[in-house]
Amino acid sequence: MLQYTLNPYACQSGFSLINYYTMAVVIAIANQKGGVGKTTTAVNIAASMAAAGKYVLLIDLDSQANATSGLGIDHKTLETSIYDALLGRSTMRSVIQPTNYTGLKIAPAHSALAGAQVELVEIDRREHRLTDALLEVRNDYDVILLDCPPSLGLITVNAFTAADAVLIPVQAEYYALEGLGQLLETVALVKENLNPKLEIMGAVITMFDGRVRLSQSVLEELYKYFPNKIFRSVIPRTVRLAEAPSFGQAIISYDPGSKASSAYERLSRELIEAIEDRLKLEL
Ligand code: ATP
Ligand code: MG
Repeated sequence: MLQYTLNPYACQSGFSLINYYTMAVVIAIANQKGGVGKTTTAVNIAASMAAAGKYVLLIDLDSQANATSGLGIDHKTLETSIYDALLGRSTMRSVIQPTNYTGLKIAPAHSALAGAQVELVEIDRREHRLTDALLEVRNDYDVILLDCPPSLGLITVNAFTAADAVLIPVQAEYYALEGLGQLLETVALVKENLNPKLEIMGAVITMFDGRVRLSQSVLEELYKYFPNKIFRSVIPRTVRLAEAPSFGQAIISYDPGSKASSAYERLSRELIEAIEDRLKLEL
């Protein structure tokens, strides 16, 4: 059960139900299929939610460190990263860095995270390392977003164990549906054995090209996996979204007012509404 205490930041970030809770809502953005738009979605909803007045922490759980570099941080020069927090070598707070976006902070990744999977196997509470690390900072944010790697290994299991909900980006291509069964099974297993509160928040369709007929058939197939759980905001395929990370920017500042920027802003609003509805249910 969540606490009802007022978040100390509430008066700064505007009135909303989320702010009446001290604990951040933790959302894992996951799909073991590579290149489906997980990181693009994580970075852009993080920036849009922060622009909407939320206090957001983005945690980069992928050794490719794309979310880290996508927000303009050079991961090669980092002294500490999420890897150190997971292995208990640094506190979570000491890993977190500010970004160029007000209200948005990041726990960056480093290529060393690739080794964490192996090191984690050996240590105590190996599935709970992220949950434990987050305890220190869960009261500081409204939303914590976890950008997961393209695998269902121990890092993703840590994300599912720490999360309240899973958001699944799905590329609007036929093959994108492969593996969804296995993903949903892993979520169900974690829910059963490690984290009973875990829920599937829904799927978000990425890289949608309305001119391609296949996309329509993918949509229909998808509804079979996620009846009532596909977000209305569909992310279009556009080169602007692919360019923005090389300038260390989210789309809201790289191309404000564009179709892609509006799509991610709409998706963020939908997510905030879904979080608030969920919290109302718990009242
Ligand atoms: P990985 O599994 O490797 O972590 P990912 O699921 O995080 O990948 P992204 O890195 O977000 O996927 O996207 C893969 C590639 O597609 C990137 O080059 C990204 O810039 C590009 N991309 C993502 N979304 C879009 C879009 N809507 N339109 C055009 N390009 C996109
Ligand atoms: Mg990624």
